[in-house]
Amino acid sequence: MTNRASIALTFDDGPDPTHTPLLLNVLKQHKAQATFFLVGKQLEQYPDIAKQIITEGHEIGNHTYSHPNLRKLDYQQIYEELYIMDLMIRTVTGQSPTLFRPPYLYYNDNVLKAAKKLGYEMILRSIETFDYRNPGVRKIIKSVLGNLKHGDIVLMHDAGGNRMDTITAVEKILIECQKKDYQFVKVSKLLHK
Ligand SMILES: [Zn+2]
Repeated sequence: MTNRASIALTFDDGPDPTHTPLLLNVLKQHKAQATFFLVGKQLEQYPDIAKQIITEGHEIGNHTYSHPNLRKLDYQQIYEELYIMDLMIRTVTGQSPTLFRPPYLYYNDNVLKAAKKLGYEMILRSIETFDYRNPGVRKIIKSVLGNLKHGDIVLMHDAGGNRMDTITAVEKILIECQKKDYQFVKVSKLLHK
C-alpha cells in the first residue's frame, strides 16, 4: 500500500475528434488515468475514439444520449436517455459502464431512481474548473491546484468547443502534481479502493 494522494480527472461531453486524441496523448505521456463521461450523440460519430479511451486504460461513464436537462424530462424519458447510452457504450467498448454524471449536474429524484435502476453510481465533482467558459489556461490551472487534495474529482471538458486551453492546463497540472507524487486514477478506483 502507498499513501500517495489520488486525484480523479474527469472529462465530459466527448468523444471529440480533435481534442480527445490530443488529451489522450497528454495523459499517456504523464502516465495518468482519467474518466470520460461520454455523450451518445458524440459516441455514435466517433466510436473509435471511445475504443481508444478504453485501450489506453481509462474509463468511460454515461453522460446520457443527447445531453438534456434531465429535470425537464419524465421518468421514462430519463430512463431512456441513460439506457440507450448504456447500450451504446456496451456495444462499442464491450464494457459495462458503472458511473453516470447528469448533464449540467442537474438531477432530481427521478434521475436518482433511473440511475439506480440501471445500476449506476452518480458522480458529481468536488472541483469545478468552468473550463467551458474559456477562462484561460491560468485560471483553469488555479482552480485545480488552488486547494487540491486527496480524493478530489475534477470536472473538465474535452468537447463542446475549443478545448485547447483545457489540454494545455491538464499537461501543466500533471507536471506540477507529479512533482508532489500525486497519482491520477479513474473515478471507480478512487471510490472503491
Ligand atoms: Zn456535459
